Amino acid sequence: MSQTGHSAAFAASDVRADGRTNLVGLSREELAAEFDKLSLPKFRVKQVWQWIYNRGVTDFDTMTNLAKPLRERLAEQFVIERPKVSQSLQSVDGTAKWLLAFEDGNEVETVHIPAADRGTLCISSQVGCTLTCKFCHTGTQRLVRNLSPMEIVSQVMLSRDAFGEWPSPTDGSRQITNIVLMGMGEPLYNYENVAKAMKIVMDPEGISMSKRKITLSTSGVVPQMRQCGEELNVNLAVSLHAVTDEIRDDIMPINKKYPLKELIQACRDYPNVNNARRITFEYVMLKGINDSDTDARGLVKLLKGIPAKINLIPFNPWPGSGYECSDPLRISKFADILAAAGLSAPVRQARGEDILAACGQLKSESERLRKSERAVLSEQHLAAQVAAVN
Ligand code: SAH
Ligand code: SF4
Repeated sequence: MSQTGHSAAFAASDVRADGRTNLVGLSREELAAEFDKLSLPKFRVKQVWQWIYNRGVTDFDTMTNLAKPLRERLAEQFVIERPKVSQSLQSVDGTAKWLLAFEDGNEVETVHIPAADRGTLCISSQVGCTLTCKFCHTGTQRLVRNLSPMEIVSQVMLSRDAFGEWPSPTDGSRQITNIVLMGMGEPLYNYENVAKAMKIVMDPEGISMSKRKITLSTSGVVPQMRQCGEELNVNLAVSLHAVTDEIRDDIMPINKKYPLKELIQACRDYPNVNNARRITFEYVMLKGINDSDTDARGLVKLLKGIPAKINLIPFNPWPGSGYECSDPLRISKFADILAAAGLSAPVRQARGEDILAACGQLKSESERLRKSERAVLSEQHLAAQVAAVN
């Protein structure tokens, strides 16, 4: 499989071996088209949509406003299915992680990180990633494929199942208040499926998440940043990690395709960014690579005029990465320079370490590792990142 291709590969099909179509992940238009084939009236689309995405049901028989013969007819043609959860872990600090197993044997992780005033769900967009950022474990995974809209939207639904959060709470009691696309994969290399899934998640008659509560993290796929801004306009997080093309070219190969100048311009152009709705810039602290005072000053200069928050991420080491995390003192000096220039740059407390809760980075790799090796892979950074993004 290509490691550099744009859209990584196929996504799973909505049609099962028994010929029935899974309704989860279909857009409203697609659902309408399916019902049209059965000559069902339009209002049935809305009813079934609400059952699936507002009430979270998985069985046509529970759809009490549909007559029994219709429920049976639907069950002959369709299913409402989510992928299997093959592992479910809970950290002492409340962080939860689910490992999802797909029909083709692939797996991805979804992580939930609770905080006093919110609960953030970190979801994956691909199995692996075709980009090969040098510091990222996901980028070393050989097998890559796009997740289907069903597989993306199901991550939200499964966590809603776990919290019993159906029908969609409207009273502020939600455990899942925010979604971050920061798990495995580059969401803008699977833009169509991510967009479709996010439209479902945002639909006010279903899961009903506001675009202001959704953050998409990208390594900087400039053309799709524009498209995403226009069509979804969710919050944007950009994995910057370096302030010169020389360093960024070296650690993030995508920079050769979309260099810093273009990336920063795309950030400036991103619609509806203001002081109340800033772009998050993620910056992984790599010892001796990107963590000098000069780098910090370069960062201030680069982001001048962009409503920005900076998320300083302690590098999360993995065997063979060849990098080390910057020393804590270096990180705080770096943060001080940013703060002096009026840029907020929190370095947050790690969470969920005991269950290896950093989205995606270990996944299939982790299964092959012995326990002693796993201990080396402290997976703190994600929780820290997520906390800082929100
Ligand atoms: N592909 C997207 C989103 C997934 S990665 C992106 O790159 O933005 C989520 C974040 O984790 C990114 O900011 C990524 O750069 C960061 N990351 C990857 N490997 C890391 C590591 N070893 N330590 C700390 N952060 C890492
Ligand atoms: Fe892919 Fe993001 Fe990892 Fe880079 S940092 S390899 S884009 S998941």
